[in-house]
Amino acid sequence: YGKVSGRNSKLFYSPNMNKKYNSLILLEGEIRAALHKNEFMLHYQPKVNVVTGEIIGMEALVRWFHKERGYIPPNDFIPLTEETGLIIQLGEWVIRQACKQHVEWMDKGMDPFSIAVNVSAIELQRNDFAEKVFRIIEETGMDPSHLVIEITENSVMQNTEDCINTMNKLRERGISLSIDDFGTGYSSFGYLRKFPINYLKIDQSFIKNALTDASNAEIVKAMIQIAHTFGLKVVAEGVEDPEILSFIGTQQCDYYQGYFFSEPLPPLEIEKLMTVKSN
Ligand code: C2E
Ligand code: MG
Ligand code: MG
Ligand code: MG
Repeated sequence: YGKVSGRNSKLFYSPNMNKKYNSLILLEGEIRAALHKNEFMLHYQPKVNVVTGEIIGMEALVRWFHKERGYIPPNDFIPLTEETGLIIQLGEWVIRQACKQHVEWMDKGMDPFSIAVNVSAIELQRNDFAEKVFRIIEETGMDPSHLVIEITENSVMQNTEDCINTMNKLRERGISLSIDDFGTGYSSFGYLRKFPINYLKIDQSFIKNALTDASNAEIVKAMIQIAHTFGLKVVAEGVEDPEILSFIGTQQCDYYQGYFFSEPLPPLEIEKLMTVKSN
């Protein structure tokens, strides 16, 4: 018995797993501390009208510049915040910060644009989510008609009825809803029709290869057409060059984001960009 259990436990606590586990625990602690010390920040990526080139909105993306480890991308820590529940605190901070920033920008007299925040499934599925957003709106003085909430496809596929309820509440307040990374999940247009959404964002994996892969081009075309028949506006993600921009233009895509126009920028850089545009 001793031997067997010894072997099993040795298997279970392999040094590598231990190391990985420890570093996750460490990271969790550091996320807590960063929240406490206000070390996260938001960068903003412009969302641009394909035809006019006008900036119609900004997407807020969370940034973590770790003192010792340098930049840690959201894909490396958001999943852990989702597992530990810390996403609730982080998500609330993101929404509040984006709203504050928008109010500050509008007060400065910048041309109106919308601000989008990413919300994870864990946040959306809390039954107090809509109320929390309304509280932040009241607290900050944010105009709800300028707020967009981006949700990934798969997060509305779990507890669909509850999600639709929450989405309807948000819409009634004038908030807009966007399906993010479309095409990477279930991608059911039938489901899509049930959701009270305004925008569909085509995932960058389809956009990037649209000119090198004929089937991707067809998929992009079809997504845009169907989205339009449902009355949705379409955003292309990850536009990196003018050829792709002109391709999505010929397909009547409404808006785009991507390095071709601008990468996500800190608030001061956004202000410079907006002054240049209006001059
Ligand atoms: P997303 O919401 O789909 O955001 C788009 C990602 O693509 C961003 O990466 C953006 O920097 C990147 N991107 C934009 N244009 C281009 C381009 O032309 N080429 C390439 N290669 N990439 C481009 P980022 O900032 O690393 O964020 C990754 C993901 O992390 C986001 O995907 C989103 O799912 C999540 N995320 C970011 N901020 C938040 C947040 O505040 N809350 C939550 N829940 N998730 C967030
Ligand atoms: Mg997004
Ligand atoms: Mg996306
Ligand atoms: Mg994404």
